[in-house]
Amino acid sequence: MKNYILFGPPGSGKGTQAKRLESDYGLVQISTGDLFRYELGNKTELGQLAQSYMDQGRLVPDEVTVKMLARKYNEHRDAPGVIFDGFPRTIAQAEALDHLMDQLDEEITALISMDVDKDELVQRLLERGKTSGRADDANEEVIRTRLQVYENETSPVLSYYENQGKVQRINGMGAINIVFQSLAACVR
Ligand code: AMP
Repeated sequence: MKNYILFGPPGSGKGTQAKRLESDYGLVQISTGDLFRYELGNKTELGQLAQSYMDQGRLVPDEVTVKMLARKYNEHRDAPGVIFDGFPRTIAQAEALDHLMDQLDEEITALISMDVDKDELVQRLLERGKTSGRADDANEEVIRTRLQVYENETSPVLSYYENQGKVQRINGMGAINIVFQSLAACVR
């Protein structure tokens, strides 16, 4: 089974591209953000716990996130592959993911990093906020916090996988179709 990590800052297009990889290649998208939003929409205990972090643009604690991710991954063991979207977002999550892979005799196939011009992200997210219905896209301060959290906590994850020789980089700046072609070349 293929296990890809789609990596990039908020607003880099991970969700959009992961959905296309799902429809064109049968890879299952596992988005921790979507999972949290689902829990939130259903007002579950997990959703209520996650909400305060999400509303502030902060990360939900690792333990909770890893547990939710592992449960979802186990539901898709018969898929040809998965795309982790928005996970791992901390070194501790990356270590927990490696541990999970080991336990299941799986391994991370590659981390695909979508490189984007950071200056454009705030604008993209504010634009998305007009229609996404996401509270964390509608507020510029929250967006700036998310980008800061990405710099501080998430970007080290890239070096973690670079040390394992698993990083592939693509240009995430072009039109959706062009970016998808670069991505498709990485997963074929
Ligand atoms: P996203 O949809 O990936 O932008 O995630 C939206 C929000 O969900 C984030 O700002 C976090 O509050 C939370 N979240 C999503 N994925 C994770 C993760 N891997 N670790 C911690 N929090 C997460």
